[in-house]
Amino acid sequence: MRHTHLKLRIAVGRLCAAEPCATEGDSMTARDSLTATVASSVIQSPSDGRELARVPDTSRADVEAIAARLRAAQPKWLALGVESRAQWLRRWSQWLVEHNDELVTLIRAETGKAPGDAAGEPTYGASVADYWIENAGAFLEPGRPESTNPTQSLEIQHCPHPLVGVISPWNGPLSMPMLDIPAALMAGCAVISKPSDLTPLTWREVVRGWREDLGAPDVLDCVPGGGETGAAVVDVVDMIQFTGSVRTGRIVASRAGERLIPCSLELGGKDPMIVLADADLERASNAAIWGACFNVGQGCSCVERIYVESAAYDEFVRLLTEKATQLRQGSGDTEPVDIGAMSSEEQIQIVERQVEDAVRAGARVLTGGQRLPGPGLYYPPTVLVDVDHTMDVMREETFGPVIPVMRVVDAAEAVLLANDSDYGLCGSVWTRDRTRGLAIADLVEVGGICVNDVCSTNFQLSLPSGGWKNSGVGSRFGGESGIKKYTRPRVVLSTTDEPVKEPHWYPVG
Ligand code: NAD
Repeated sequence: MRHTHLKLRIAVGRLCAAEPCATEGDSMTARDSLTATVASSVIQSPSDGRELARVPDTSRADVEAIAARLRAAQPKWLALGVESRAQWLRRWSQWLVEHNDELVTLIRAETGKAPGDAAGEPTYGASVADYWIENAGAFLEPGRPESTNPTQSLEIQHCPHPLVGVISPWNGPLSMPMLDIPAALMAGCAVISKPSDLTPLTWREVVRGWREDLGAPDVLDCVPGGGETGAAVVDVVDMIQFTGSVRTGRIVASRAGERLIPCSLELGGKDPMIVLADADLERASNAAIWGACFNVGQGCSCVERIYVESAAYDEFVRLLTEKATQLRQGSGDTEPVDIGAMSSEEQIQIVERQVEDAVRAGARVLTGGQRLPGPGLYYPPTVLVDVDHTMDVMREETFGPVIPVMRVVDAAEAVLLANDSDYGLCGSVWTRDRTRGLAIADLVEVGGICVNDVCSTNFQLSLPSGGWKNSGVGSRFGGESGIKKYTRPRVVLSTTDEPVKEPHWYPVG
């Protein structure tokens, strides 16, 4: 599917005047190699199909040259110290806020997001940077554990992996890399970042801001391109932070294993929502609609399946269907809308296939169910009932505005079904009995769960955000663990009292 999609969205051609990958200081080697035949991505607007730009893929040779340059600059960056690094990041954070409108326009152009979905990205990215600016110094303070020997003093230092690779997906062109990169930079690492080949324009501009507008140190660069560029990144870095599909995550983890470098994987999800009979159904149905449809359902922690206790089922489905029908969809250029276009032809085809398969197997469509006619990749909010776990729509990640709802006898059946999944990213439990809700939440096999809220754990930077099962390895954020993952501990032991010899040294006494 991915390959078909690449044919639809990406043209491979001979580009002689290819753009370098956002670096003033590119080495001659890098520039020379770009005059050879290179593949390029044609970036199209999902809202109307118009071509926005052609972006050359970064070749392996260029990735190696850029990595060498960043690596060379990293020791000086580390030597600056946390406070001076924070000053650069503070300027970058301000730059994001000052350029908010242009960046939102770029995000909307290359993703088809509705204004409301795109609007938060630059400010959210800035707030993530601000969190690490504020806290990195304390989090990176060397540890001084108590020594079991009074003449030995102990210290744990947190030394950065010199070069970190950050590979990101298309569903948040700015927010996704910003979830990870500020922590790595504050830790003293250099970062080579690879945005998705579907949406490289916004991130390339943000890195240009760092490099050209701010003239910041040469410790951050952007290497646009597809899978081959991503593979080259994994081959040159000391640690890899990957966000994307399970399929690519496995490839990245295998290569990281061969190279014996650490990797952190934030992967897909199939998040369950459990609605108990005593839930506030107005709030739960509002949350279900938003949780399933923000970013047109293209969020790793979107609600992907709902289990409702029998006594509440009919009313919940009625409310959900009513609310789904009321959502306004379109580009948002001329009228207010709630949701926009899907990001790619491949993604809309995955949604179509899952819905069609489910309907063939007996599911009923209560709203939506077919892509909208006309230019642009619009798939409407789709409520599905009479679904079961033999259907892909209940087992595979959909990543679209599809809301399959299943009637269950009780909470025990809901938990059983919620856990009957290869994924374990996030989930939610809905009940007026908070104590019972918390007890049920403890039984759901996911990395993050809300009681009477939805998709919210990822936005608390003091909480580690990561998936169980196939949804990932490691986590991001989580206070000090979120920055220490970019470091390796070095322990230092020094003596405070120096006799001629220690009792256990030779000669044996
Ligand atoms: P993808 O796996 O197709 O691509 C992700 C990135 O990996 C892209 O930049 C791509 O070019 C690159 N890549 C492809 N092949 C590679 C290779 N062999 N080596 C290295 N890099 C390679 O995923 P996608 O379609 O861009 O993103 C959607 C997926 O991302 C969904 O499954 C979604 O759930 C997941 N996601 C997870 C989180 C999270 O935090 N858990 C957040 C956002 C998205």
